[in-house]
Amino acid sequence: MQFQKKSGYFLFSFTPKPVFRKSRGLPAKLYGVLVAAVIGFSGLYPASAQAQTVRFFNGQNGLSDASLNIFAQNSEGFLYIGNKTGLYVSSGGEFTRVDKPDGLPFRHTAAIAAGTDGSILIAADKELWLKTRSGFEKMPFQYDGRISLAAYGMDFIVLSGEGPARNGGIWRLFRHQEAKPAFTPLVKDHTDSQISSRNPLNAEVLSVMVSQEKTVWIGCGTALCRYRDGGVDKFDERQGVPREVWHALVICQDGALIARSDRKLVIIAANGGVHVEEIPYEIPDYFRKNPSEIFMLRMADGSLMTPGHNSLVGRSSAGHWDEMDWPSGYSPQMISSAFIDREYGVWLDSPGRGPVRIAGFPFWKSFLPGNDISPMHVSDVRHDVAGNLWIAAENGLFEYAASSSGRDAAHLLKHLELENISSLIRTGDGALWTAEKGKGLIRIDPVSGQVRKLPSPEQVTGALQLDSGGRIWVGTVAGLIRIDDPLRYASHLPTVFALQNHRINALCFDQFGRLLVLTDSVLFQETAAENVFDPKVDLDSFDIGEGNAMAVTMSNDIWVLGTKGNIRKILLPEDGSPVVSMLEGGPKSGGFTTIFRDSRGWVWLGGSHGLDVSTPNGWSHFDLTNGLVSSHILQGAINEDDDGSLWFGTESGLSHLREPGSLPVLPDLHTGFLSARLDNVDLLGKESFWPDGDRKLSLQFVAPTFTGNREIKYRYQLMGIDTAATETSANFVNYANIKDEKIIFQVQALDLLNYRAASSAVLSVRSAGLKVSGFKGDWWVVFLLLSLGLISAVSYRRIRALRQKNFEAAVRGRTRMMEEMQTQLLHQSRVDGLTGLLNRRSVLDELDELVAAISSNDLVAVALIDIDHFKTINDTLGHQGGDYVLEQYGQRLRQSAGSTAICGRYGGEELIVVFTSISSTEALLSQVTRLHEHLREPMIYGASEVVATCSVGLAIIVPGDTASKLIGRADRALYRGKKRGRNCIILAE
Ligand code: GH3
Ligand code: MG
Ligand code: MG
Repeated sequence: MQFQKKSGYFLFSFTPKPVFRKSRGLPAKLYGVLVAAVIGFSGLYPASAQAQTVRFFNGQNGLSDASLNIFAQNSEGFLYIGNKTGLYVSSGGEFTRVDKPDGLPFRHTAAIAAGTDGSILIAADKELWLKTRSGFEKMPFQYDGRISLAAYGMDFIVLSGEGPARNGGIWRLFRHQEAKPAFTPLVKDHTDSQISSRNPLNAEVLSVMVSQEKTVWIGCGTALCRYRDGGVDKFDERQGVPREVWHALVICQDGALIARSDRKLVIIAANGGVHVEEIPYEIPDYFRKNPSEIFMLRMADGSLMTPGHNSLVGRSSAGHWDEMDWPSGYSPQMISSAFIDREYGVWLDSPGRGPVRIAGFPFWKSFLPGNDISPMHVSDVRHDVAGNLWIAAENGLFEYAASSSGRDAAHLLKHLELENISSLIRTGDGALWTAEKGKGLIRIDPVSGQVRKLPSPEQVTGALQLDSGGRIWVGTVAGLIRIDDPLRYASHLPTVFALQNHRINALCFDQFGRLLVLTDSVLFQETAAENVFDPKVDLDSFDIGEGNAMAVTMSNDIWVLGTKGNIRKILLPEDGSPVVSMLEGGPKSGGFTTIFRDSRGWVWLGGSHGLDVSTPNGWSHFDLTNGLVSSHILQGAINEDDDGSLWFGTESGLSHLREPGSLPVLPDLHTGFLSARLDNVDLLGKESFWPDGDRKLSLQFVAPTFTGNREIKYRYQLMGIDTAATETSANFVNYANIKDEKIIFQVQALDLLNYRAASSAVLSVRSAGLKVSGFKGDWWVVFLLLSLGLISAVSYRRIRALRQKNFEAAVRGRTRMMEEMQTQLLHQSRVDGLTGLLNRRSVLDELDELVAAISSNDLVAVALIDIDHFKTINDTLGHQGGDYVLEQYGQRLRQSAGSTAICGRYGGEELIVVFTSISSTEALLSQVTRLHEHLREPMIYGASEVVATCSVGLAIIVPGDTASKLIGRADRALYRGKKRGRNCIILAE
């Protein structure tokens, strides 16, 4: 293990886990975003490391400088941290102290749990406090000694002492309806256990608790117990759980439990299967004395982090253990507690040092040059059939052997001194092909390793594509070349067959499998006629420079990148002229050097400022501060490996995103109110009568983010007073004189760094003393509710009538109603209103999950259904008639697709069915044929009979398929069906 000192920075690292870097030059108390850098590793192989953003919270940022070790984050994203000096809550990158209603701080915070409704249960100073939106409430509960809290839906589970066995107890805090919160023993002595007749929770020492929604796992003697729906399942030796005292538990997304004792790890799968492992590291002494503080974190990539040996050890999702290796000179940091926040930042606390937050933790790996010659200016990366890694770079082609310990440790096998090589493709026979820019192609034989240069009639530009038929398309400075049978390669490339005299900079297939060709100034599209390309768009008029690169999105938009670093979105309709537009809602920086669409359909833009990715949830940004090894992405240097992982070539090395699925699919970000006062009236509190006369309204709001580094902007509007929304970087606003009897204030935080908007917060109050709500939701939800008159008319009158009787209850009822409506709206956001089928995004999500979970003998198939001549239907029946046909299609699909099929609206008049339990191709075909028959049956619309036929493209999953590859094949089959005359089913090969 080596480490380096470089320009005042100090490096230390996990091997091959994270690399932290701490500033030396900066004053110790000056916090900042300190960026990890490249470090050298012990000789043999290119280093594998991670870069992260490290932010120190030692006595700064509103936190006390004492160690902080109690963490919880509520559903709105507010992070609570507690210790013996008090309780603190995050607000816009900083923290503020939370005090009790009497103004005194919480001393000795012992435990916090976050409920699903944004509430927080706090155990401090031997008391329990519940903090909800409407303030604090002291619970009728006293504890002594140890206490643990866990959320259970809206309720909480409270474990005091060591359970009934040691004069403590385990309770459920019921918070339902309008009743006062009440504690009941979690289990009584009757037999509600499914396994043991005597309830283990009443008979054993209870050590530790973890919950996820409505499941709680409890360390129970030497067994592990699962509590849900009022029942208890016990897992002990009979199920294969070793006799150990369990100290730390985590629940995985899929419901599996991972538990650790001093030396053992047990994984209880959701289906009850048990796996046991020895932890190959001793725990630090600190935890011998405080075993209840042993922690375990599960990273988004499935790896675990837990105390071991001196400090931390990690276990990769593949089961490899690694030790964190601290350099000498840095006093070994004792990590005594840790937490992962909803933005995937890892908080580590060590006694006497205060917490640090490390972002970009699990997602990125850097593939860094070792001591020998190393790839420079990487343009492509690909694995060969033997699993070795090939890297195409400016200074040659490199082959690294993947070692048995995983992909991280690879050593250089071969360096081919070639110049300026670009894309790497692998043909069906396993051969690798690459282009030496300005020269010709190169083929590397999969068996002999022989490297053969294939002279080209024209200089190749590096644009290289393999089509679904196995042919290679090659761009040259003077036209297009196609190798029709790469498996029987000749000693020369064929001659240019199309687009002579055009310099071909990029090649791409659209969603229908047609080739798009980008030259300096024109975008060409392949036509139905053999070897004929249509010029579609003249780029000269768009001021983007020369055509440089392009990508096609899932919705068949073409994004073209010019040499000036700008992007245009091009739509090529079947009939009609191309539509060219600017990129909307995305990154504004320009300066892009490369563009890439991955198999998930995400579009990546790289440039000198880092990386921007467009996902169904919006844009995310990555750079040096959150995971990339360098912020400078090189031209053409974004690539997807066969396993779906992504590689990014940067100025200072390669960054590897091993599991794109583990990328933070942006967590919910809410805007919240810190305070709202009208003169002396606290509008967030329970009283909301306000005095007569001129009134001053002061509002403070916040988004609970830590990554933004205060790069948050707010957009607010006071309805009836502000005519438009105002944008500001301040997080407060004052209005001098509020005359209205009603206040509706909306505010939404915008995270400028990540290009995303938080959901807005709304404060809605009436002077009658009736607080309508302070609920969170999108602007349109508010407008919808308002325009439906739900707030103002009926319910308001009802509430008014109730007010005298039970004002509190009415308000709670109202809040619940709004919550229910939100749930409904959430449901609506999954379902397409016209057809009643799932919408595109939901189907794609389902399919993604399905494909990820599939085993080798499961069959999944996708049918894309496009109604034939739908435009004509619209033209003859009117748009309403068209809608009616679509509605009928939806209904028929739901009737005939079968209960195991997932049906959705893929777009316009295109529907999608995912078949999940298929016994054979024949069975599938007959099922789809029946479905097709049903769909095209005549329907009655008004006085007329309508026959709307459809074409179906069908594709069955093959090993290595991703959801989008599968859909892509179905789409191409559908396209062929249309070409073949419609009203048919085409099975993709
Ligand atoms: P083809 O058989 O080749 O698919 O011919 P087509 O007319 O169906 O061509 P295409 O799929 O390109 O056109 C689909 C049309 O569907 C275009 C659009 O106006 C119409 N459409 C899309 N969504 C809706 C909708 O929700 N309601 C109605 N009435 N029409 C829609
Ligand atoms: Mg269509
Ligand atoms: Mg159609």
